[in-house]
Amino acid sequence: MSADDFDPGALFQIEEPDAPASRKRAPGRGIGIDLGTTHSLVAIAPNGAQPQPVRDASGADILASVVSYVDPSVVVGADARAQQVEHPSRVISSVKRFMGRGRADIGEHPYPIAAPKHDEDQVVRFDMGGGRDVTPMEVSAEILRVLAARAEAELGAPIDGAVITVPAYFDDAQRQATKDAGRIAGLKVYRLLAEPTAAALAYGLDQTKGGKQGLFAIYDLGGGTFDISILRLREGVFQVLATGGDSALGGDDFDRALAAHLLEAAGVCEPSDRQREGALAEARRVKEALSDEPQVVANVDSCGLTGFAVTRETFEGLIDGIVRRTVKACRQTLKDADVRPDDLDGVVLVGGSTRVPKVRAVVEKTFKQLPLCDLDPDRVVAYGAAIQADILSGSAREGVTLLDVVPLSLGLETMGGIVEQLIPRNATIPIGARQVFTNYSEQQTGMVFHVVQGERELASDCRSLAKFELRGIPQLPPSMARVEVSFQLDADALLTVTAKELMTGVKQTVEVKPTYGLDEAAVDALVMESLDNAEADFEARNMAEGRVELGRVALAVRTAVEEVGHIESLLPADERTAILAALQAADEAMADTAGTPQRLKQTREHLESVSEAFARRRMERALQAGMGGKSLGEIESSLAAEDALEERRGSHSPQQT
Ligand code: ADP
Ligand code: MG
Repeated sequence: MSADDFDPGALFQIEEPDAPASRKRAPGRGIGIDLGTTHSLVAIAPNGAQPQPVRDASGADILASVVSYVDPSVVVGADARAQQVEHPSRVISSVKRFMGRGRADIGEHPYPIAAPKHDEDQVVRFDMGGGRDVTPMEVSAEILRVLAARAEAELGAPIDGAVITVPAYFDDAQRQATKDAGRIAGLKVYRLLAEPTAAALAYGLDQTKGGKQGLFAIYDLGGGTFDISILRLREGVFQVLATGGDSALGGDDFDRALAAHLLEAAGVCEPSDRQREGALAEARRVKEALSDEPQVVANVDSCGLTGFAVTRETFEGLIDGIVRRTVKACRQTLKDADVRPDDLDGVVLVGGSTRVPKVRAVVEKTFKQLPLCDLDPDRVVAYGAAIQADILSGSAREGVTLLDVVPLSLGLETMGGIVEQLIPRNATIPIGARQVFTNYSEQQTGMVFHVVQGERELASDCRSLAKFELRGIPQLPPSMARVEVSFQLDADALLTVTAKELMTGVKQTVEVKPTYGLDEAAVDALVMESLDNAEADFEARNMAEGRVELGRVALAVRTAVEEVGHIESLLPADERTAILAALQAADEAMADTAGTPQRLKQTREHLESVSEAFARRRMERALQAGMGGKSLGEIESSLAAEDALEERRGSHSPQQT
């Protein structure tokens, strides 16, 4: 390898301006939001307190996820739901089903959709009349706003940030849409958290066996959805092993089954909308009451039904088929995760519909153990989110193990193919880091950034995550152009890398998901590999650094010889011969694959010493020439530039050993 082999676009590191950027926080002012399909809820757990739901002025904590656009001012919750029968197209419920979905992939719904704004417009916009078009994100934001206002009133101080939960199976678009909803509502979204993980955190399952390990099933039967998730805990971090369920199965189906039974009892074969809604509302009330009482009396005025007794047994018969469908999904998901019921360290009940005793019994039988149900199943997700939000707000909580961590170090390839780590393995996320790089030569107008992941010293031994180029770097002497590179790893493990030239402000950004395609076995293998190769890597790094150093000096000397070496008074013939020989030796040393770092160092020192007098004369000549034509100020600033150059040369390689 000779000096010419160096990629002129490669990175040349000079300094570390600061330690990993720490975020400003407001301990105790984080909130946890369960943004549900049918119900939503906000909880807080300030400064290590037990999580608690936040209530509105009337004492209600669970908010119906329904938004009404009937009146000029938006109405959210039970009042909105009350307007639904009369204005089905202007009252939006279950908006969660629309999140992150394009026009092409939304199912049946009763809402008018505004015309696309252009050919490729995929954004769903509900047409609420009067020129009011709203996106699903905006509708969700209305719900979030109400909850945030409640929490702010309860805390008596501005909210710092929020953790919002999403189903474990939500894809990137759905997650992004949820984040956007948070932003529209004016919230700083610390992170999104998977609903089953939130439930597990609420039960403190992250402490199982000292946080070391555990296997859990989270059974979540809500209003309109059923989700079953298998989680694995390992070193304090939850991993979703498998998810399953049915996006059209839930308490609403119980309501419909019981409503049909009530209509039949009333002798109504073809119910009007009003009768159907009346029967549904009563079915829901009776269903919920039957969770605590063996028998409940039903009345549906619109159908002329009065004093009709429904026993728990009758109800259980009506929902039997529905409950059995959840069992099928559970068995399938266990199989997908390659987990047997006996392997499970716990089963958690989530969702209002798991209050039904029959559901509990079926879960117990399926998983061969008593499920955890001490915490309200319709609040437990918000509780877990609140705990997480409290931690992310910066408050210290006792007994909290790790949050999500970086499985493998993240860094950049620098000159000579060496990895400069910016975010170390096992750092807690979210985390940020910055570093300044500089140009290698004056001809350089672009820099190539190669983002890598792994524990090895050389980039070629690491996983390549992304490569991008920053163009438009001003042509300045070596080490004078400064490019700041920042790594931001957010709580969802999305890495944003930004490179910015500090003088012109030109910048370039890429986003990558470092965990993509990485499973645990792969992580373990990569870590083992780095241990096995530690010594060889160390040597390789020393070699690479030695080459970079020598290459830099050789390039500077060679350029000077080419430019002014023909002037005898600057470079006498014998010195010239010695320098050319030293340059030759430098090329050979850099090309020598069997060489040692010591040899590179000696070669560089020799080159520096034979070219020292030449450098001094050049400097003197430049000064004299300067005195002739330039002003004193110009000379001073060019001297200052030389000084700065020297300083940086001294500090440019902090990794040198
Ligand atoms: P989601 O997560 O889908 O927004 P929830 O977890 O809040 O919804 O569950 C809502 C469902 O739980 C509704 O169908 C509601 O009727 C039902 N539910 C609430 N309380 C009870 C109860 N005591 N007994 C039976 N079902 C209940
Ligand atoms: Mg839910």
